Amino acid sequence: MKLNTNTKSLAKVQTHLVAECFNKLYIGGQFVDAIDGEKIPTYYPATGEFLHEFPRGKANDVDAAIAAAEAAWVEGTWAGMSAAERAEIVAKMAQGIEDNVEMLAEIEAADVGKPYRQAAMTLGGAAGEGKYWCSLGKVLDAEQDVPVNSGGGEGGVPPAEWDVVYRRDPIGVIGLISAWNYPMNVAFRKVAPALVAGNCAILKPSEIAGLSCMFIGKLAQDAGIPPGVFNVVTGDRDAGAALAASPSVSMISFTGSTLTGSKIMGACAPKLSQVALELGGKSALVVFDDTDLDKAVETTMKGFLANGGQICTAHTRLVVQDSIKAPLLKKLKEELEKLPFCNDPITEKDRGDRAWEAGMTDVVQPVVCDSQHKKIMGFLHEAKAAGVEVLTGGDVPDDETVGNSGGYFIQPTVLINVERDADVWQKEVFGPVLSVRSFSTEDDAVLEANSTAFGLASTVMSSDPAKAMRVANRIRAGAVFATSTGEGLLAEHPAVSRGGFGFSGVGRELGIGGLHEYTELKSVNYTGFSLADAKKQRTG
Ligand code: NAD
Repeated sequence: MKLNTNTKSLAKVQTHLVAECFNKLYIGGQFVDAIDGEKIPTYYPATGEFLHEFPRGKANDVDAAIAAAEAAWVEGTWAGMSAAERAEIVAKMAQGIEDNVEMLAEIEAADVGKPYRQAAMTLGGAAGEGKYWCSLGKVLDAEQDVPVNSGGGEGGVPPAEWDVVYRRDPIGVIGLISAWNYPMNVAFRKVAPALVAGNCAILKPSEIAGLSCMFIGKLAQDAGIPPGVFNVVTGDRDAGAALAASPSVSMISFTGSTLTGSKIMGACAPKLSQVALELGGKSALVVFDDTDLDKAVETTMKGFLANGGQICTAHTRLVVQDSIKAPLLKKLKEELEKLPFCNDPITEKDRGDRAWEAGMTDVVQPVVCDSQHKKIMGFLHEAKAAGVEVLTGGDVPDDETVGNSGGYFIQPTVLINVERDADVWQKEVFGPVLSVRSFSTEDDAVLEANSTAFGLASTVMSSDPAKAMRVANRIRAGAVFATSTGEGLLAEHPAVSRGGFGFSGVGRELGIGGLHEYTELKSVNYTGFSLADAKKQRTG
């Protein structure tokens, strides 16, 4: 018989989820029921127990949200404010995340199955990043009416009688479609810059784990965002598809799989609307034999196991130099087989012997849901059938090891002697699975690192700075880490832009460029009167 041991912690999370914002759509400044009244159930990944059900918004609900956003856009108050004024309001939303970190972390632990401490830390990061976006309000204002190297007509600059300036306008009504692995972070990374830039937006969180994102509606209401400027419609892929296809929606900012990203690009093509696509990855960790062995092992573990391997930048391909391969794999296997499973992510607070805060991998969390579990196990069955060698893992843990929990657990798995064209080398598994290949020369290392269609992130480890730099510069990925220690692996800073080459995406997020993604660049050409006069008239 399957025992559910976590009822108490789950019941506590369910008391948070009775609030209106976790049970309704947020449209036109009001919490409303989905028109057809259908719900989507969600389950605790550590036990498979029922967690909550939330509205299955459909195309009719998406249309209502778009109508509310369009009305707010046409009315124009939000876009008419300065970016700094908008940023002050959005900053209250970021503060709201910080003020509610504990509750939101419990919800994400229950919804995604990630250990509470990790959820709390990343939610703190979302709040901090939100404040960063708000600090860019003034920067955006300073970019309005900036002269375009004008005057003179010599050397290719515009003629002296022209006064040409650049402006950055909001795009209009935009759709924000997000993934489940870091629900609040992924969503708020879209919401904050979209609003600071002056757009009206509809957020469609993931149906797999998006409960914390529903709280953003309440944050918007409490912060005083005008009705219709920001809306939340929960629902499945049909709601996302309706949002992407709507002729009234001028941009889709999407984070999710490469397959869905390509469908969204297709939906946006006929109307030629903007897309920003943050997609999947298959990042390589390149380890040269002059790297400290313990640091290489720790970095490998963190790279493919953080958040259960469910990170777009997860380093799921190990490219190791022949001469260090045997000792590295031996130690990696030993360490992985000692890791315990995290049977109750909601209450998981302290592991004791391995300090997660110091960057060490301390537990194996469940994967997010039954369908992802099946998908990952499908990859493993196929790899084994094709003769790929399993160094460790490769299966579900036995019931006793995970406290007979009934959760969606998979052993940390290392696959060796993987062919370059194997699915487990080429495709994103999005679970605790590492594929290994080796190299002898620097050129081979670069070839292996660049041997998939993805290009989101990659890391080169060596104690030789010049070699690390040479290899880093040849790796085709939007974010590359060059390190002798592994420190900073997977780390992000809001001021540092990132994004994908190839299958990993279109556009860049974070940094000032990330804010610019939510604007249209416009030039205004004043002739017959000066820009200075125009400004005088405007201010009276
Ligand atoms: P997904 O593509 O299955 O779903 C993402 C979102 O798209 C969900 O909200 C879903 O409802 C919606 N959707 C699905 N089909 C749609 C359609 N046809 N039209 C419009 N919307 C549709 O991805 P997921 O499983 O939620 O997330 C995991 C993926 O996200 C992984 O590939 C991961 O690498 C990627 N990811 C990327 C980044 C990044 O920054 N590059 C960050 C996090 C996650």
